[in-house]
Amino acid sequence: MSDILNGALSQLKKAARHTNVPDEVLEALNFPKEVLTARISVRMDNGLRRSFEAWRCRYDDTRGPTKGGIRFHPDANFEEVVTLAFWMTFKCAVVNLPYGGGKGAIRVDPGQLSRRELERLSRAYVHAFASMIGPDRDIPAPDVYTNAMIMGWMADEYSSLVGYPCPAVITGKPIPLGGSLGREDATARGGFYVLNNLLAEIGLEDCQRRAVVQGFGNAGAAIATMLHQDGWKVIAVSDTGGCVNDDSGLDPQKLKEAKKKHGSVTGYAKDANGKKIKVMQRDEMFALDCDLLVPAAMEDQISTDNADRIKASVIMELANGPVTSGADDILEKNGVIVIPDILANAGGVTVSYFEWVQNRQGFYWTEEEVQHKLRPIMERESGAVWRLAQKKGITLRTAAYVLGLERIAEAIQAHGTQNYFCP
Ligand code: NAD
Repeated sequence: MSDILNGALSQLKKAARHTNVPDEVLEALNFPKEVLTARISVRMDNGLRRSFEAWRCRYDDTRGPTKGGIRFHPDANFEEVVTLAFWMTFKCAVVNLPYGGGKGAIRVDPGQLSRRELERLSRAYVHAFASMIGPDRDIPAPDVYTNAMIMGWMADEYSSLVGYPCPAVITGKPIPLGGSLGREDATARGGFYVLNNLLAEIGLEDCQRRAVVQGFGNAGAAIATMLHQDGWKVIAVSDTGGCVNDDSGLDPQKLKEAKKKHGSVTGYAKDANGKKIKVMQRDEMFALDCDLLVPAAMEDQISTDNADRIKASVIMELANGPVTSGADDILEKNGVIVIPDILANAGGVTVSYFEWVQNRQGFYWTEEEVQHKLRPIMERESGAVWRLAQKKGITLRTAAYVLGLERIAEAIQAHGTQNYFCP
């Protein structure tokens, strides 16, 4: 079994020690319910056919249809997809959505494809997994290097296959195809609500409000903007091209413009009109003196190699799995509070759920209504995780897993005893 999946399952084992969930439930949650691997063949613009490896995993559907993004990435692999689906299972339970967890991926570098090749690939993915997905079975969404445009193509392809418009099959769609207002920045907004709700508890109320953000895509750019607007100094930001640092604070709007113009946030330094902006290797940011560190890029970024260097007092995981389980132990020993991914970034799947609800009822909400519905969920569940952690003397991550595990176990029991009567 791979390190990433092992790490995820060790979180489950840790949580199990703090609750009375039956062993048979734990055993079931050790394996995905269903995983499909497919070869997707696509005609490229030059007339030649290329094949790509792809996966879709439905980890557990006890609490409802499975829900989880589709990632296009050159390093995507089977174990990563299964692990991400495992995390989705717990994330949906932590924010109490009527969903199980799923995930999908294609091993591809989308930056190397033309727009038409990308569209053919996205449509081919839906063909390959059409028997698995569906509005009552498994509902994909965007993830790393996929976006609203791709979700629109996928929803269109699925609708053509079934013969009627079926917007509820996928979330994160463009607004004219049934997307929800407020979905674009929902992941960051959910994290922002969690942070503000726990500000006093995690000791950040009277801090200097210096934040460092790793990754400047959908989640990273939005949280940098929200923190900046709320009076935080975003002192460093990175993307795959490198990191920029200014202790007096960076301007997220100008970072967006620089990324657009130069392809990386490091372009900010070129457009700084003589102001001294440090450009660093992307991983140097972890050692910066700050109050809040927000990993919003990829998994396994904070490991036993660099955890000891972290000076932030709080880490809020907007990315999925950015802290390895080995690093978690070091951070706990060093007194660094980690707001775990399955709580911190759950705003994304929550507004995806809102999108699905709106598609099914055919009645759409304003952006204010979406935010108004998101906020109490993030506040209620972050409060519940905090109180559980205090009561049991455990980390926020373990508390979030305990909360999720107990909800999944209750649902398994509520399904009844039909299995006893099967041959
Ligand atoms: P994205 O593709 O929009 O952005 C990813 C960003 O990370 C890019 O700026 C990229 O340059 C940067 N990056 C990648 N590797 C890096 C590295 N080693 N160092 C620094 N920067 C690096 O992706 P996203 O949608 O913002 O997702 C980011 C993370 O958040 C992922 O872990 C994803 O699973 C998680 N997440 C996203 C959503 C969502 O709604 N978008 C919801 C929940 C969780």
